[in-house]
Amino acid sequence: MRAAVLHRPGELAVEDVAEPTVVGDDLLVRVRAASICGTDLRIFKHGHFKLRDGQPRVLGHEVAGDVVAAGPRVTGFHPGTRVTVTPNVGCGRCDMCRHGYNNMCPDYEAFGISIDGGFQELLRVPGFAVQRGNVFAIPDGVSYAEAALVEPFSCCYSGQRGLRVGPEDVVVITGAGPIGAFHVLLGKLAGARKVIVSNRGRPRLDLAARLGADVCVGVREQDLAEVVREHTGGRGADVVITAVSDPQVQAQAAELLAPHGRLNYFAGLGAARTIPLDTNAVHYKGLTLTGTTGSTNGDYGRCLRLVGERRADLSPLVSEVFPLEKIHDAFDYASSGAGMKAMVACHGDPHATTSDPAPAEGR
Ligand SMILES: [Zn+2]
Ligand SMILES: [Zn+2]
Repeated sequence: MRAAVLHRPGELAVEDVAEPTVVGDDLLVRVRAASICGTDLRIFKHGHFKLRDGQPRVLGHEVAGDVVAAGPRVTGFHPGTRVTVTPNVGCGRCDMCRHGYNNMCPDYEAFGISIDGGFQELLRVPGFAVQRGNVFAIPDGVSYAEAALVEPFSCCYSGQRGLRVGPEDVVVITGAGPIGAFHVLLGKLAGARKVIVSNRGRPRLDLAARLGADVCVGVREQDLAEVVREHTGGRGADVVITAVSDPQVQAQAAELLAPHGRLNYFAGLGAARTIPLDTNAVHYKGLTLTGTTGSTNGDYGRCLRLVGERRADLSPLVSEVFPLEKIHDAFDYASSGAGMKAMVACHGDPHATTSDPAPAEGR
């Protein structure tokens, strides 16, 4: 079978690899859609601390497909079941795991980092991931492409859940990439009074407007702080979410807040870790500053249900589909900042909503 193998940072090749075999509790999933995340781009460029130099790895952790084989001990999943797989598999024994935070486990394993991920024809889901609840059946009517996007959507959900967004809130989202767009959808779903989104480029703001953003701010032409004051009677925003990896954006974020405002530093900063922060403002305005990373399997399940019930439509975020052989073009597209999500398709139409029960080649 074909797989996009990262041999070392910058060296990614689509090549023939041995088809995985399943034993015990393992599942074999034929990948129908795998979207590219900023994390994939970062690992492609810079590697990952969990990845030894020279250790080959298949990236991709936003993935959906059909079960084509199940180990003899598997229950609940059969050949033909349409599934998605959540990336972070907790150890199941630590305090974080015991409290349901598989995304915060210090000894996590992850698809696309320490386990081969979705940019290949067949994905082996090891039994421990099946047992720890990382495999979900896709609701009827949800396409593979949309199902793959539930993963990043659930990370945004996890961030907003902590902020308790409600109908009284003016929500500011800085950045209108895919993460900003998911936050727009969630802010509207939570009933926010107004969702204001800012971005440098216009095309992504236009999509944010189509997704329901009430105010779109092009920061090249407009001053975000001024627009926020205008729309809040000078009070400031109740909620701010940073959805772009930019120290300046982070530094400005707290200044946009009203008294008792809440903030989530959603996008990480990479190497530039520190920003100047007026802690007096935090003190006197009673601000709440939060951060989240990833999502729990619980939040993922909630999001899959929201999408299955058509209360959130993620399909407008699928902007380009690439065959596996063209993965370099897909990575270029994803890093270009054009469009929204790049989807890699290994088999059939990623927009399909029914499984293709034909056995995988050679099986
Ligand atoms: Zn991701
Ligand atoms: Zn753990």
